[in-house]
Amino acid sequence: MMKKGSTHAKVGIIGGSGLYEIEGLSNIKEYNPTTPYGRPSSPVVLGKLDNMWVAFLSRHGQGHRIAPSDINYRANIFALKQLGVEWILSVSAVGSMREDIQPGQVVIPDQFFDHTRHRINTFFGGDVAPGIVAHVGFADPVCHDLARILVGACGSQDVIVHRGGTYLCIEGPQFSSKGESRIYRRWGVDVIGMTNAPEAKLAREAEICYSTMAMVTDYDCWHETHESVTVEAILETLHRNVERAKQIIREALTSLPIDRSCLCESALKTALVTPHHMIPVTTRRRLAPLLERYIESQPPPRPQRAKRTAKLPQRRLALVPKSHGRK
Ligand SMILES: [Zn+2]
Repeated sequence: MMKKGSTHAKVGIIGGSGLYEIEGLSNIKEYNPTTPYGRPSSPVVLGKLDNMWVAFLSRHGQGHRIAPSDINYRANIFALKQLGVEWILSVSAVGSMREDIQPGQVVIPDQFFDHTRHRINTFFGGDVAPGIVAHVGFADPVCHDLARILVGACGSQDVIVHRGGTYLCIEGPQFSSKGESRIYRRWGVDVIGMTNAPEAKLAREAEICYSTMAMVTDYDCWHETHESVTVEAILETLHRNVERAKQIIREALTSLPIDRSCLCESALKTALVTPHHMIPVTTRRRLAPLLERYIESQPPPRPQRAKRTAKLPQRRLALVPKSHGRK
């Protein structure tokens, strides 16, 4: 945990394939957070970028060592929440599911389709935070304000950007088969990746605005050119994409409003269905960064305790006539 009064960051950047660091950060500090869910994928690098504190996290770990199914998504998002992050810019390499979305272009999705099977997508319940249930709204999984800012930032760079679209999140780590790829196309998705749906869900639970910059590296295997695409060509596109992503991030940071006015900011307000007094104390303490706006980490004195003390004299009184009777 960071000491009180030390730096915190308003913006979190989660870098995916190809983006393992952000250049141009000053006043750099490395922070090795612990969370109730364990440690995040990598140390969080805190630094100033154009006078704004940002926290950078490498999704697949330093050196790209963590597979999509093994990423500790909960620790990643919780660590950013502990730092005070309000905005998460996610950078992700994706495959295209549409002819007109070409390699080298950028998509700012506005929907996710979660086709994963082995991810834990909530902070609430389970071994870490038993005794609490929350159902946050997810009809609009992306922060509209942040998405608009990202689209605007792309516009100022020399890049073709597609505004909106559905990001299909598959389990992986294998890419899809041709049969799957053709079926996914019929579902009407626009890009395909392996990591963003759990992040978006957890960010919503943490009341953090989330938007993805999906950098298109190639067409998924439905496309006739897929087999002729070399690894070198994909890496080349990825490298170019990453350089663009860094420029776009810098541009986007200058447009973030000081205060948020979107609904992400209060996503938990009406989502907690468990009566507050029934939420276990350990769960309250562990989830304090998420819950402290709504519930105290220490519950108020239980009403039963007050009753018990009130009853004590009555019991004693009740004993009196009995003992009198025996005499
Ligand atoms: Zn928002």
